Amino acid sequence: MIKVCKNPSCGKNFQPGHYGRKQQVCGRQECLSWYRAHWRATRRPPRGMSDKEYQRALDAAKPDLCLYSLIVCARETGLRKGELLGLAWDDIMDGGDIKSVVEIRGQWQDGIGFKTLKTLTSRLGLFSRAARAALAAYRKDLLSSRRVAGVARIWPVSEAWAWGRWVAVQDSLGIQNPNTKSAYRFHDLRHMIGTELVLAGRIDLAKKMLGHKRLETTLIYGETSPEDALSDIEKIRGKNR
Ligand SMILES: [Zn+2]
Repeated sequence: MIKVCKNPSCGKNFQPGHYGRKQQVCGRQECLSWYRAHWRATRRPPRGMSDKEYQRALDAAKPDLCLYSLIVCARETGLRKGELLGLAWDDIMDGGDIKSVVEIRGQWQDGIGFKTLKTLTSRLGLFSRAARAALAAYRKDLLSSRRVAGVARIWPVSEAWAWGRWVAVQDSLGIQNPNTKSAYRFHDLRHMIGTELVLAGRIDLAKKMLGHKRLETTLIYGETSPEDALSDIEKIRGKNR
């Protein structure tokens, strides 16, 4: 396979090496640094699925309240899959009510089990009304068939199960991430809340919800293509004049 170097000031043919088909420039130092700068200027932020696709996927998942509540909580709280799967009913119940502010003490990892967070950073899960409603419906359904011990995990499933079921739901509906041409990952649900808040101008809230240590990480959610940046600037001016 022979490719053409994307660097406009080079344009030479090259044989892709280590990076295979993804390699966009020949291996020369100046072409590599051109690509890094180009990528930084034009990369697109993690967006997650559209609200419409999300709603369709949710409707399809609804018969399985375990999966359904897990998806809703992932999208609403921004917690990572492992952080959610590590939660026990005791963590989230306050008497008969579901807490809205939940302390995250660790995470679940397939093959390892529950692992307590090493650093004592205060990581909180903020459960919105939608997240609490989904959890309440799931709990009610569980209680109707059996008793639920407080120490039991809310979602007694593996990461692989959650991922596999999430992909299966999308496959049954023909939902695909246009960028990757495959199903959205579970992690993309986390991107939805980040995107929602950053685009609403609340980078501070997005950082809090996603538990980022560095603001730079959160800022990636606000990145736009040069064309979008220009049209955004025009919109801001239109409003102010
Ligand atoms: Zn080149």
